Amino acid sequence: VVRTRFAPSPTGYLHLGGARTALYSWAYARHFGGTFILRIEDTDLDRSTPEAVQAILDGMKWLGLDHDEGPFYQMKRMDRYREVVAQMLEAGTAYLCYSSPEEVEAMRERMRANGEKPRYDGTWRPEAGKTLPPVPGDRKPVVRFKNPLDGDVTWDDVVKGTITISNRELDDLVIARPDGTPTYNFCVAVDDWDMQITHVLRGDDHVNNTPRQINILRAIGAPLPLYGHLPMILGADGEKLSKRHGAVSVMDYPAKGYLPEAMLNYLARLGWSHGDDEVFSMEQFCAWFNLDHLTRSAAQFNNEKLAWLNNHYIKQADNERLAALARPLMEEQGAVFEGNPPVAAVFGLMKERVNTVNELAEAAMLFYREPQPDAALMTQHLTDAVKPALAQLAERIATVEWTKEAIAAMIKEVLAADGLKMPQIAMPLRLIITGQLQTPAIDAVLAIVGRETVLARVNNYL
Ligand code: GLU
Repeated sequence: VVRTRFAPSPTGYLHLGGARTALYSWAYARHFGGTFILRIEDTDLDRSTPEAVQAILDGMKWLGLDHDEGPFYQMKRMDRYREVVAQMLEAGTAYLCYSSPEEVEAMRERMRANGEKPRYDGTWRPEAGKTLPPVPGDRKPVVRFKNPLDGDVTWDDVVKGTITISNRELDDLVIARPDGTPTYNFCVAVDDWDMQITHVLRGDDHVNNTPRQINILRAIGAPLPLYGHLPMILGADGEKLSKRHGAVSVMDYPAKGYLPEAMLNYLARLGWSHGDDEVFSMEQFCAWFNLDHLTRSAAQFNNEKLAWLNNHYIKQADNERLAALARPLMEEQGAVFEGNPPVAAVFGLMKERVNTVNELAEAAMLFYREPQPDAALMTQHLTDAVKPALAQLAERIATVEWTKEAIAAMIKEVLAADGLKMPQIAMPLRLIITGQLQTPAIDAVLAIVGRETVLARVNNYL
């Protein structure tokens, strides 16, 4: 059985790196018919906020990364952590440490001065035959993990290969503070144990935590999951992706008019590959995804590629769905839908060339505003030579079959009769019908705007 988890700390938004971690963990579980667990690591009370929890849930929902268990909240598991601390004290894999923060700082200073790596010096660490100092009556102890003194911690990282850390590098970690609250690495280890996690995929900023967590898992008799540390995501300039690079929060993307399938497809390829395949569905991704083709080097975020994928998925998307996304934006811009063509039909005409739903909404606005053509442009395009043709056109518009093809044929006939070229009638018509010179093909525009509106607007100029 495969059991994976996504374990974000709710201290900000759901960023792109987090979303990619979530996607891979989710897809791996889906690939094997396993279980995907959502765990909120909210023990940092100073930095965790309910808004950030909501942002994570919203982001996961938008991406469609559904969890099978959870969300579990670490703050609701305090009793369980206390229980494990007590068991470890009992078993002798952890010990009470009465060294004051000042004393610990002083020993660290001393080691630094000696050119050693600062660590707890083991004053309160019980060893066979060792006498511990007298317990200071006025001080509450911390609980420290009894880290092995010798040997190495080794794991075969599914992304980075074998990693070995000497136990001498690792401190006797504080697992519970004087008030009894558990600390970060300890909670993660207990959770991964209790939730029976088989595969831990996470950002490589956690590589340093892994040997500590492995030692704790061993001490409590828990099986070890496989670990994979994903390299971080860089901006186009090679620096770690941050606010400077624009949107780093996943939920900025729906706001900018991106579709979740474009974001998912993009993140899937950002750190994993399947031959030359660039465009694929999540179904396909889940079928393909395993840990064999994770990229070892840092990935560079590329806005153009994401935009290209978004264009692809907009072209594929159902027009009614796009219309539902765009309508609120168009309303904000003062769109009048009443009496104007259906948004979905307009999108069918315009969506080929846009990269975002927002661009599409913006481009489509020409159908939803009262046209206010620029007077000088109108004079320039609606010349005396063109006016008779326009009058004829108006007559034919009244009776022509109202399809794009019939309208196109009719315009050609009027042009031929008056010896005019297409742009000579198309440009003034565009201005009259939409107020703009840049529109989709004029026959399509007329067809979609509708006979009555076209006639009313043309007659205005005759
Ligand atoms: N809570 C950690 C973070 O948000 C992730 C911990 C983990 O995946 O083990 O970076």
